[in-house]
Amino acid sequence: MTAPLRPAAIHVGTTTSGITDLRVALRAAAVLQTGEQARVEVSMAKLFCTEMAVRAASSGLRVLGGLGLTKDCAAERYYRDARMLTIPDGATQIHKLMIGRQLLGLSALG
Ligand SMILES: Cc1cc2nc3c(=O)[nH]c(=O)nc-3n(C[C@H](O)[C@H](O)[C@H](O)COP(=O)(O)OP(=O)(O)OC[C@H]3O[C@@H](n4cnc5c(N)ncnc54)[C@H](O)[C@@H]3O)c2cc1C
Repeated sequence: MTAPLRPAAIHVGTTTSGITDLRVALRAAAVLQTGEQARVEVSMAKLFCTEMAVRAASSGLRVLGGLGLTKDCAAERYYRDARMLTIPDGATQIHKLMIGRQLLGLSALG
């Protein structure tokens, strides 16, 4: 491998190893298919997948350096789009709160 490609390979490897944890989303789907409630699993899936999208887009920006932040580069839009996904349908902090409350047996509304 040529030296300039090595940093890109490290970013791709880091991102890919994170993506393998998408098993959490599959577990949520499996629980829902049984007809059971899957509040914790669904929150984990939403939180994990959207934060992973941010990490992947951020990794792309890192590879491109300053150019990645310019509007000439699609990576800037991918990052903005990915960051947006962490807000609707329960912002990341809210899902963390929901998971913690469920696991501790606390009311979701308290
Ligand atoms: C692209 C997009 C599409 C949307 N589509 C819809 C739609 O179709 N229908 C609809 O009804 N709404 C929609 N929304 C609105 C979306 O649901 C809200 O933006 C979202 O619920 C967050 O609410 P907020 O913006 O008022 O932020 P806030 O609730 O004010 O949150 C601001 C920050 O504080 C954190 N926070 C809030 N409460 C707590 C807490 N108790 N503890 C710790 N941290 C906390 C949040 O995680 C967040 O980081 C959309 C938003 C976007 C960006």
